[in-house]
Amino acid sequence: MIKKASLACTICGSRNYAITVGSNQRNERIEVKKFCKYCGKHTLHRETR
Ligand SMILES: [Zn+2]
Repeated sequence: MIKKASLACTICGSRNYAITVGSNQRNERIEVKKFCKYCGKHTLHRETR
């Protein structure tokens, strides 16, 4: 089972990335360091729905 999720910047709250997550990750909140164009730097992005 595959679901869609967005990755939101934890600093400004912008949803900058869309990802798909497999069922093996359903209990984990995904956190990735990605570039946020609004903050202008790499920030921590967290999975949202
Ligand atoms: Zn940001």
